[in-house]
Amino acid sequence: MAATEKGDLVIRGGLLADRAATIAEPRDILVRDGVIAEIGPPGMAVPEGARILDASGMLLHAGLVNGHTHAHGFLSRGVGDRWTLELLLAASPWVGGARTVADKALSATIGAAEMVLKGCTAAFDMVTETPMPTAEGIDAVAGAYDAVGLRAVIAPMVADRTLYEAIPPIAEALPEALRAEVAALRLPPWRDTFAALDRIVAGWRWSGRDIAVGIGPTIPTHCDDAFLAACRDLAERHGVRLSMHVAESKVQAVMGLRTYGRTVVEHLDGLGLIGPRFVAAHGIWLDDGDLETMARRGATISHNPGSNMKLGNGLFPLRRALDAGVAVGLGTDTCSCGDNLNMYEAMRLASLLSKVQGPDPASWASAEEAYGAATGGSARALGLEGIGRIAVGAKADIVFLDLRHPNWMPHRWTVNQLVHVEDGTAVRHVMVGGRLIVEDGRLTTVDLAALKDRAEEARARHERDTAPQRALFERLAPIVAKAGPAIAAEPYRVRRYLAESGSF
Ligand SMILES: [Zn+2]
Repeated sequence: MAATEKGDLVIRGGLLADRAATIAEPRDILVRDGVIAEIGPPGMAVPEGARILDASGMLLHAGLVNGHTHAHGFLSRGVGDRWTLELLLAASPWVGGARTVADKALSATIGAAEMVLKGCTAAFDMVTETPMPTAEGIDAVAGAYDAVGLRAVIAPMVADRTLYEAIPPIAEALPEALRAEVAALRLPPWRDTFAALDRIVAGWRWSGRDIAVGIGPTIPTHCDDAFLAACRDLAERHGVRLSMHVAESKVQAVMGLRTYGRTVVEHLDGLGLIGPRFVAAHGIWLDDGDLETMARRGATISHNPGSNMKLGNGLFPLRRALDAGVAVGLGTDTCSCGDNLNMYEAMRLASLLSKVQGPDPASWASAEEAYGAATGGSARALGLEGIGRIAVGAKADIVFLDLRHPNWMPHRWTVNQLVHVEDGTAVRHVMVGGRLIVEDGRLTTVDLAALKDRAEEARARHERDTAPQRALFERLAPIVAKAGPAIAAEPYRVRRYLAESGSF
């Protein structure tokens, strides 16, 4: 459970990572009822009877926060390669099909287990159910996070238009027979889906466990404007996060201009969606005006460098976003596109990806900025109080790294090594709310051997039960693979592909 461990606990002898310091300093930490009560010099006096956790030889850093992922995708691990985002969306009835409620919980458990073993203690999760969210399905996902012991925002992901309705040139490229088959994928009217969403948000029962509900209209052009406005009002009424995929692919950016006559961000801002509660996933194809709007409205971008590269969506301009004053978090996306859920890798990729965009180091993001995005930046995306930092009053979500691991030989510049060297293999303990969810590298809340058996049973069953959806995808794939890039060949306001520079 993402609840708190009662009583006093003192963490003695560790080195505390600090963005502002080159090298971590020795600090003791007093945790009371799961919250950091005091940080002091080694050997500081603590209340009598406090339990002691020896952290000598260990580096302590704030639990990493995954700013964007999808629990339904964790069971789809290993599924595709050389897929664009549009191919992934075309594959979704296959790769996410035939799921029972138990499968939804199983999928969430696999990803939550991976995340916490790799030093991540909270996640923003947009969950899809077809054709619309159900209370049982979303509850199963929330329960899975709770059982593993992570904090989360769970946002049911909704739409009322299929890929083929949102991107007419793809539908037009299909032969008539296939066009009829994709027409059968049509989604329910948005009012029905919204009513289901409204019930889920109103009936939410996990907030006390730090598992909040959010709202996830998936992609602007996949949702009617009236649907988006209703989602905006629902988020406002309940004070919850609203997240969307915004200009993730160039196809989406171009289709935004064609559909709205302005950028996706300009359109969403016109509808009043963009504000402090708004989290844009990806945002690769935002221009300077869009970034400025995001900053002015106090919205957050969740940057997903691994997924962006795997799906060939282009280079996110991290330096420009930070310089524009946008709050930037980091995420892994899900296992059908980002593949692993390793926030250390997300930090490393975010840093490196900013450094391949030009020769001037002043235009690069620093290790401190990448670490800040994976902690405070993503914490802002989730909107949960007291996460993403180690400070008095914050929740005791702390990762303990073994400094005797080769990653830390020698230990010279803490945050530089956290971002560019650490890969999760030095994780020794992970604490959430004062409770050890990972202890000596072992997950305390889940039996991984039993989970593996269930994962393989589900994989075999899904492969059998989604054979028709797979066959449909295999007929669609060659056409979608050409139609997407044809749309992306159109010039756009900004360039985010190396191939657009003319020299590649
Ligand atoms: Zn996503």
